[in-house]
Amino acid sequence: MRTVENCLFCKIAAGQIPSTVVYQDEQVFAFRDIHPQAKQHTLIIPRDHIVSMAEISHEDGPLLAHIYAVALKIAQEQGIDQSGYRVVTNVGPDSGQTVFHLHFHLLGGEQMGLFGAGKLSGQ
Ligand code: AMP
Ligand code: ZN
Repeated sequence: MRTVENCLFCKIAAGQIPSTVVYQDEQVFAFRDIHPQAKQHTLIIPRDHIVSMAEISHEDGPLLAHIYAVALKIAQEQGIDQSGYRVVTNVGPDSGQTVFHLHFHLLGGEQMGLFGAGKLSGQ
């Protein structure tokens, strides 16, 4: 298991920084986003320090499948699996990634808008 000393999400997963825990097991940790962008906003992270999807290889397939299965389980527990939800991960500067430990936003509980730049490139 890779951990990075000054990584906020490594510390949260280790319980060194408090969070509202939603789910945890040996591989992943899920907690409430501190600045929710929807009525339900959970972050799902691997305990292993991976910077972003830019570092993913085929060997990470089982981990990613597990993260998505956990997202479904949380959505069911939050009662948003039928109304719909979004799972999204930011990679690099244009996405607005601010924490460089892989995380998946699970958003739902209300109608959400389109995402993207909100304008066509070059306009
Ligand atoms: P991103 O912009 O994709 O890198 O997402 C980082 C997310 O982490 C943002 O939605 C923040 O609100 C959230 N965040 C930052 N610090 C904390 C924290 N201490 N506890 C919970 N969520 C946090
Ligand atoms: Zn980390």
